[in-house]
Amino acid sequence: MASEAIKFLLGDDRIPRSWYNIAADLPEPPSPVLHPETRAPVTPADMAAIFPPSLIAQEMATEREIEIPEPVREVYALWRPTPLFRARFLERALDTPARIYYKYEGVSPTGSHKPNTAVAQAFFNHADGTRRLATETGAGQWGTSLAFAGGIFGVPVDVFMVRVSFDQKPYRRAAMEAYGARCVASPSEETAAGRQILSEDPQSTGSLGIAISEAVETAATREDTKYALGSVLNHVMLHQTVIGLETIEQLALADAVPDVIVGCTGGGSNFAGLVFPFLAETLRGGRRYRIIAAEPTACPTLTRGAYAYDFGDTAHLTPLLKMRTLGSTFVPTGIHAGGLRYHGMSPLVSQLLDLGLIEARAYDQTPCFAAGVTFARAEGIVPAPEANHAIRAVIDEALVCKQEGRARTILFNLCGHGHFDMQAYADYFAGKLEDRPYSEASLTRSLGGLPEVSAAE
Ligand SMILES: *Cc1c(COP(=O)(O)O)cnc(C)c1O
Repeated sequence: MASEAIKFLLGDDRIPRSWYNIAADLPEPPSPVLHPETRAPVTPADMAAIFPPSLIAQEMATEREIEIPEPVREVYALWRPTPLFRARFLERALDTPARIYYKYEGVSPTGSHKPNTAVAQAFFNHADGTRRLATETGAGQWGTSLAFAGGIFGVPVDVFMVRVSFDQKPYRRAAMEAYGARCVASPSEETAAGRQILSEDPQSTGSLGIAISEAVETAATREDTKYALGSVLNHVMLHQTVIGLETIEQLALADAVPDVIVGCTGGGSNFAGLVFPFLAETLRGGRRYRIIAAEPTACPTLTRGAYAYDFGDTAHLTPLLKMRTLGSTFVPTGIHAGGLRYHGMSPLVSQLLDLGLIEARAYDQTPCFAAGVTFARAEGIVPAPEANHAIRAVIDEALVCKQEGRARTILFNLCGHGHFDMQAYADYFAGKLEDRPYSEASLTRSLGGLPEVSAAE
């Protein structure tokens, strides 16, 4: 009986043939991206220094479906379609009448959803003649995924890795090198942005904002090099929609319709990947779902950030995006969910929150790890610390179902496994994790530095 099954699988022939572009269905077009100096809307020519033409076109695309090139589908077939599970053991452990389903992206070569866009970006860069890619990585998930994808399409990758992670996570660096990438600790002597920071503070441990500045500068100043970003931008959200498109087919096999859909949000891409294809139905007058974005209290971009134009990096080299932001000078406390520590949020996800189509909740990291451990003991997969935020929200919802005696169907994205993050679990078991919400004073300070924008809005 299909509805009793635990696992819902699709054949390779069911890997989606197109990505879904939500911009086509939004009631208002997304706010324009502004030039960092003139503050006028950017043109494709402005972006040509750092991105290849096909990705610029996708960034600004208005058509609903964008074809996935066959070579990209071939690489996707290494791990896609990913499984959808019914979390029966978790349901039993919680003694809840809720039906819980999760899409598992941890089966990818690098253990998370990130290769869905890394492979597409490497393919389009190669097709457009890019000779080298520069990028940044915090904890290493994105750098590892782009290293893998660049290797497949023969595009060498330079990764600027935040110094503190470079020193503390040697395995991540080794993984990038295993895939053939060059990994540089950031701030570095290789860029003006890096040298500037080092001249002020030779011991700087770096930040994602600084590493982005270094990668963007490298792309902007080298003829053969382009830049790749692992989240936030529209084309990244687009590539991730394979997650939700597959899930819709798998839920049909399970004969299930979700009432609640949950994802964790750093820059918004795994969340967007799952929920945008469901919102496609809502935006065209169909069913409405309750959609929850789960984020850390230590980096509360959606729940406490401003909805304003801001830079994506510390040195203010990137264009201005209208998004939920904590300010580009934001420095997160040392939480273990490395992927959820960025100051900004996808403009598309930010717009959906503004439209009231999604809601956001923030969680402290200790209860998130508790949720992750409950999940691991029930379902057997140790989740990435980022995913634990989604699991916390799911368990809370399932417990409400139990209280109310209601059998709601809950769907979430298990965006990655935690095998590279066992130190975080070790710290949790040793009682060393602290819950440090972002203080009102630092929030006011970092938001005080938002750029002035007179144009558009
Ligand atoms: C990078 C990462 C995230 C955060 O990025 P999003 O763009 O918000 O998805 C979350 N989970 C994992 C496992 C990651 O690697």
